[in-house]
Amino acid sequence: MLADFWRQHENAFGKVEDFFFNPTNIPALLGEYLQSKPQHILESLKRIVPENMHDAMGFDDWSWVKYLLDPDIGVLTMAELEVTEDVKALDEVYNERTAQHRYADHILRAINTIMGRELIDYLANHNVLPKYGFPVDVVELQLPHVDDGDVPELELQRELRIAISEYAPGSQVVAGGRLWTSRYLKRIPQKAWPKYRYAICECGNYKSVLADTGIELGECDRCNKPLEKAKEKGFFVIPEFGFIADNAVEKPSTSKPERTYSLYPNFAGKADEGRSIHMEANSMTITATAASHGKIAVLNTAGDAKFMICNTCGYAKVNSRMANDTVHKNPQGIDCHGSFQRLALGYEFETDILQMDFGIYGNNKDGFWLSLLYAILEGAAEALNIERQDIDGCLYPVSGSMYRPALILFDDVPGGAGHVNRIADETALKDVLNAALKRVSQCECGGEKGDASCYGCLRNYRNQRWHDVLNRGMVMEFLKMLL
Ligand SMILES: [Zn+2]
Ligand SMILES: [Zn+2]
Ligand SMILES: [Zn+2]
Repeated sequence: MLADFWRQHENAFGKVEDFFFNPTNIPALLGEYLQSKPQHILESLKRIVPENMHDAMGFDDWSWVKYLLDPDIGVLTMAELEVTEDVKALDEVYNERTAQHRYADHILRAINTIMGRELIDYLANHNVLPKYGFPVDVVELQLPHVDDGDVPELELQRELRIAISEYAPGSQVVAGGRLWTSRYLKRIPQKAWPKYRYAICECGNYKSVLADTGIELGECDRCNKPLEKAKEKGFFVIPEFGFIADNAVEKPSTSKPERTYSLYPNFAGKADEGRSIHMEANSMTITATAASHGKIAVLNTAGDAKFMICNTCGYAKVNSRMANDTVHKNPQGIDCHGSFQRLALGYEFETDILQMDFGIYGNNKDGFWLSLLYAILEGAAEALNIERQDIDGCLYPVSGSMYRPALILFDDVPGGAGHVNRIADETALKDVLNAALKRVSQCECGGEKGDASCYGCLRNYRNQRWHDVLNRGMVMEFLKMLL
C-alpha cells in the first residue's frame, strides 16, 4: 500500500524529512488517498492476508485505516507526532540560543540527523512497516586502508542493537586475517548525534528523553522519586553513522580478541497489552501477559565507566583517569586536540514482550529476581525450543518496589518474532517453569544447596554484569515451593 502511494509521490520517499517535513503534508495526502478507497489496494491486501482474518482486520469497511492514521491509536500518526515534536523542541532551543548569540550549531546538526534518517528504518522501528527477517538500522565498522595488496575489500556490518556492543570503541574484530580494533564513532559533516538523557531509578525503572530540548526527566512514573537524583544516569548517543577502526592493525594472535562490554537491557514501560493468563500455585497467583510493541532500551555503559568521546573527530576510549586530556590522532592520522564528552552508547527498539507478575510476593535477597529471570529464560528456551540468544529479559518495578518486580522477557529482534508471547498459555507457562527448575536443580555448582552460579545454569556472556549475584539455590527453593 505504501509502495503504491510512493510510486505516485516519489518525492515523499527517501529520508524522514521527505515524508514528515515535506512542504506538502504527506500524511494528510496519504489519508485522502486511502479515503478514496482505491479498489486495487483492497484487492492486494486481501491477496496477502489469509481469508479468515479479513473481517477482523476490517478490510471491507476500510476500518483498518484507523490502525494507521487514527489521531489516538494510529501507528503512523504516533510516529509522525514523535519526530515532529522532537524537531520542534530542538528548533525552539536553536532559535532561543541564536537570538541570544549563543553557540547553537550542535542543535542544528542534531536536527539534520533526525530529519536525515532513512524513512524505511524509521517506519520499521515505529511499527508502521513490518520488519520480520530483514535487518534495520545497519551500521558499518569502517576499516583503514592497508597497503599490502592481498587484503580483499572487507565490509563489516551489524545491526545497531548488536553493533553498540561488538563495534564499541576498544572492541576487536578478526576479519580477513587481521585483528581490527574499533576506535572512532564515525562523524558526518553537518550532522551530530542527538543526545539522550537517561536515568535508572533506585527502584530499577528506566526513562529517557531527548536532551538539549529542555525536557526534564522528571519523576519516576513507578515510585515518584525525582530521577535527577538517581545514581545511574547520564547521556547516551546512538552511533548511527557507524564506527571506524584504528589505523594500527595487528595479526590475530592465539589469544582471544578483546571482548566487548555486554549490553544492559531495560524495559521502557511502553507496550500494547495482549493475552493474559493466570496460574495458581501454592497460594500465589502468577500472571503472564503477552504484549507487542514493548520498548526495550539497550545500553553499553562500558561497565560503569562509560566512553570518553571526542567532539571533533569521534575518537573514543573507555573512560579512565588517564584518558581525558591527551592529544590523539583523528581517523586521518592527524593530531586532534578536541574536547571529550562522557557518554554511553544506546539503542531503543520495539519488540514482542511477556510480562510475568508474581502478585504480592516480595523477596529482598540480593540477586533473587535476576536469578529467577535467567532461570526462566533458560527454561523458556528449553521448553519451547527457542534459541537462547533470540530471547532476553530484564526486571521491571511495576509496583515501584525493587523487591516485587515483574519479569520482562522479550524477543531480542527488533519487531519481535512471536517467541515469548507463546508463554502466555497455561500449559506453556508450566512447562517453562518446570524446565527452569530442572536447569537449576541439575547443575552442580555451589554444592547441594547450590549457593553459586555458573555457565551450566544461570550465567552467560550477556549477563556478565550480574554474575556475582546470580544464585541457583534461591531459585531452586522458590520454584520447588511453587510447583
Ligand atoms: Zn522509581
Ligand atoms: Zn578528536
Ligand atoms: Zn551452575
